[in-house]
Amino acid sequence: MTTTPPQQNDESGESDLDSALVTARRQLERAAAHIDVDDGVIERLKHPTRVEQVSVPLERDDGSVDVFTGYRAQHDDVRGPYKGGLRYHPEVNADECVGLSMWMTWKCAVMDLPFGGGKGGISIDPKSLSDDEKERLTRRFAEELRYVIGPTRDVPAPDMGTDAQTMAWFMDAYSMQQGETIPGVVTGKPPVIGGSYGREEAPGRSTAIAAREAVDYYDMDLENTTIAVQGFGSVGANAARLLESWGADVVAVSDVNGAIYDPDGLDIESIPTHEEEPEAVLKQDAPETLSNEEILELDVDVLIPAAIGNVITADNADDIAADIVVEGANGPTTFAADTILEERGVHVIPDILANAGGVTVSYFEWLQDINRRKWSLEEVNQELESKMLDAWEEVRTEVEEKELSWRDAAYVVALSRIAEAKATRGLWP
Ligand code: NAD
Repeated sequence: MTTTPPQQNDESGESDLDSALVTARRQLERAAAHIDVDDGVIERLKHPTRVEQVSVPLERDDGSVDVFTGYRAQHDDVRGPYKGGLRYHPEVNADECVGLSMWMTWKCAVMDLPFGGGKGGISIDPKSLSDDEKERLTRRFAEELRYVIGPTRDVPAPDMGTDAQTMAWFMDAYSMQQGETIPGVVTGKPPVIGGSYGREEAPGRSTAIAAREAVDYYDMDLENTTIAVQGFGSVGANAARLLESWGADVVAVSDVNGAIYDPDGLDIESIPTHEEEPEAVLKQDAPETLSNEEILELDVDVLIPAAIGNVITADNADDIAADIVVEGANGPTTFAADTILEERGVHVIPDILANAGGVTVSYFEWLQDINRRKWSLEEVNQELESKMLDAWEEVRTEVEEKELSWRDAAYVVALSRIAEAKATRGLWP
């Protein structure tokens, strides 16, 4: 087996905050150690197929021109077209896109979707753009990426700094260039132009399903379960609302400014989500307020970090009092913290399984687009439930048979599928 030493993400090696690339490579190594897989396959998976770097000129509203750098990393497509978000953020760079594209490869494979991993974006602060500038930038980006994307090649989606409207511009520009309407070139579009019902709520819904299944697996009763949710945005609020509707007591939620806590359970439906009214959590009546550090350490049954990455670290892992952590956010637990939680018997349901509802409903959107047939919200939610339960069963089997953590088991399921596909297709030429 070929091994690469785990990389530190800062030169001193003192930080345990993990970059996407470090995490993705480390998980590949860990999963490879648990299954019989050809060294050549692992070697191929350490490298992306392609990283497209483009210059994106933008005419500003005042007539001046600025040029920005855009990327599209395509990691692996052995199981189908590359799939993953496009982000507009000042820190977008090639390495980050490669790491996040690898992460998408594992996420699509654990859900058994016929996609591989991609990720891209433009290094820019989206807040510095007017709506018109954002539209021009997006249309030009679509033109620059035209030869590497497409519904059977690589299918982008919204990510940080981009949204359904951005995807609509992207799809329109691509369609105009190709001379026909091609909705399947991107997902996360508004439903009126081929987007799927239920896409926006899907990562929160899958996170709630993962929490429900974990509670059941560990012989707890959802009706007597207390839950804390960090982050009350798309993922956190949708997960909290569903879990409350299924009978759980969501006792604490937070946004960027802090948390509210009621040991008897909050009235979750009455709290506006980040989209409905940004940063409204602390405006609600509640017996106690807490900091974002304190909410992570609450003595609850289930903790759902659903805000940002790297919040559970070596510094606070010993103080996590929940029995189960369900990762709604991407990468909320660092590698060092993961080891501590495992030693302490805290069960962590990993992001690539828990929040995979987003890419799963993106797959449903793509199916609807290429088949020109709209699904109802009920159909979408039913299919998502079924996909989640199938993935849960596959991962649970690995947890039990190989005595693995949920994270290692999820990566083993993903890597097994990819390795088998590579072995079956062979290496050309
Ligand atoms: P969002 O912007 O809708 O909401 C984020 C929430 O977190 C807000 O309530 C915000 O106030 C809060 N927040 C921001 N910074 C915080 C901080 N430092 N401490 C505590 N709270 C903070 O975002 P979202 O779409 O819900 O995404 C949340 C996480 O889930 C991210 O890690 C994202 O990558 C991941 N994710 C999102 C999707 C998706 O499709 N929305 C899919 C998979 C994973």
